[in-house]
Amino acid sequence: MIFRKIKDKFTSFLFSNRCPYCSKVIENYELCCQKCEKALPKHGVCQGVTGGYRSTAPLIYRGRYRRALINFKFHNRQHYSKAFAKLMAKDIKCSYPDMVFDFITYVPMHKKPLKKRGFNQSELLAKELSQELHLPYICTLDKIKNTKPQHTLNGRKRLENLKGAFRVIDKNTVRNRSVLLIDDVITTGTTLGECSKTLNKAKPSHICCAALLTTAHLY
Ligand SMILES: [Zn+2]
Repeated sequence: MIFRKIKDKFTSFLFSNRCPYCSKVIENYELCCQKCEKALPKHGVCQGVTGGYRSTAPLIYRGRYRRALINFKFHNRQHYSKAFAKLMAKDIKCSYPDMVFDFITYVPMHKKPLKKRGFNQSELLAKELSQELHLPYICTLDKIKNTKPQHTLNGRKRLENLKGAFRVIDKNTVRNRSVLLIDDVITTGTTLGECSKTLNKAKPSHICCAALLTTAHLY
């Protein structure tokens, strides 16, 4: 009896819903704890990406927010995408009040790392955002080059690494459309810039970028 009680407690501890930012156990209906909710920044951080495209992100890449992304991407906390998308949706509405988007799309992964991780974190964010913003999400880009991770490179090498890495799957989907492009984190803006540049070849009417985190204030 006592062993069963311990086992039940242990199981509920392991599988309980947790706050993405501080790991505190929260109710099943909650997306994050009240303390972290109150501490979330009220205004997003705007930043340009390579090529001069507009971009925005609600969180700075450090501390609890950096850890939340690491857990989301590398420790299989895919369900965090709901809390993250809610935050991003608010920021997108604030940063682009003048924009009416036709659809959401996302930075793709090459098939090899995608197979290894099992999911594309940017696609998960785009999928949840599609619910929040009542817009379809469409896969428009394909990553045709298995590039080195961007954080291992500096300056010009980041640009060279991504050159020719993406292609538009179907130009007709993009032509004359207003596109919201999603990534998880903006560091130097090279990835979103290169994806925007590739999408631009299909002549969309607008491209705006949004991410969950940015290192904007860290440079
Ligand atoms: Zn918390």
